[in-house]
Order: sequence, then C-alpha cells, then structure tokens
Amino acid sequence: MKIGISACLAGDSVRYDGRHKKDDILMELLKGHEIVKICPEMESGFTVPRDTIELTDGKAVTKNGKDVSDELSEGSGRCLEMIKDCDFVILKSRSPSCGYGFVYDGSFSGKLIDGNGVFAKMCIGKGIRVFTELDLDRIEKELK
Ligand code: SF4
Repeated sequence: MKIGISACLAGDSVRYDGRHKKDDILMELLKGHEIVKICPEMESGFTVPRDTIELTDGKAVTKNGKDVSDELSEGSGRCLEMIKDCDFVILKSRSPSCGYGFVYDGSFSGKLIDGNGVFAKMCIGKGIRVFTELDLDRIEKELK
C-alpha cells in the first residue's frame, strides 16, 4: 500500500520546537509499504523552530498574532498533491495542520476542541481517509 504520513511521526525534526514525534510502533507497522512523508508547515515555508500556530475563527494564527492562513493553505495544497494517490494518510493528532478530530482551541492554553487541521480538512474534502497515530489498531487492520 502507499500511505501518506506526517513527517514528524516518521522521525523528521520538523516540528515547531525543532523536534520530531517519531512513533516507532507505527513505523514498524508500515514496514514493507511505500510511505510519502509530508509536512504542511514546512511546505508552507515556515522555519524550524517557529512560533506555534493555532486555529481561531477559521484562521491559522501564530502565538504572536500573525495570520498565516494563506501560507498554510498553499503549503497544505502542495502536500495534498503529493499524497493524492495514497491509500490513506496517517496524520499527527492535535496539530493545527495535521490534527484530525480535535485541535487546540486558539487560546494557546492547551485546551482541545472538536475540529480538524487545515491539511486534514483538505484530505477529507478530497475523500482521502485520515487516521492519526492514535488509531494503531485500525491502521493495522487496514494494512492486512
Ligand atoms: S505540520 Fe504536521 S507534519 Fe509538520 S510538524 Fe506539524 S504535525 Fe508534524
């Protein structure tokens, strides 16, 4: 199978804090499959490290109040092109770009609300199935 995956889950140090969130169990599951790593925020031209971003009133805004919606939308669109023929994608939960099902509420206080990140929304809109690293059981079934 061909699977799109958030680059930080695959071990790339692309997060806002310069770290990754490599998920060893997930990567073990994916062995033998083709993976396509994508990072909407890097594709948007953002630096590492960078200010954290949260979604508020339909916009993507940095902790310092900069509206980066347009950049993030463009970068996410480029990532969408990269994964368009994947069987499904596995995205990093809670991210304003990759988060699926719930995201931070825009107050930069760690509070989660129902919602999807900018890139996750685009995937859903194109009918691409989205999982997160929290869906290991379901992903395992998909891979069988
Ligand atoms: S945009 Fe997605 S892939 Fe990039 S660091 Fe954030 S969660 Fe990871």
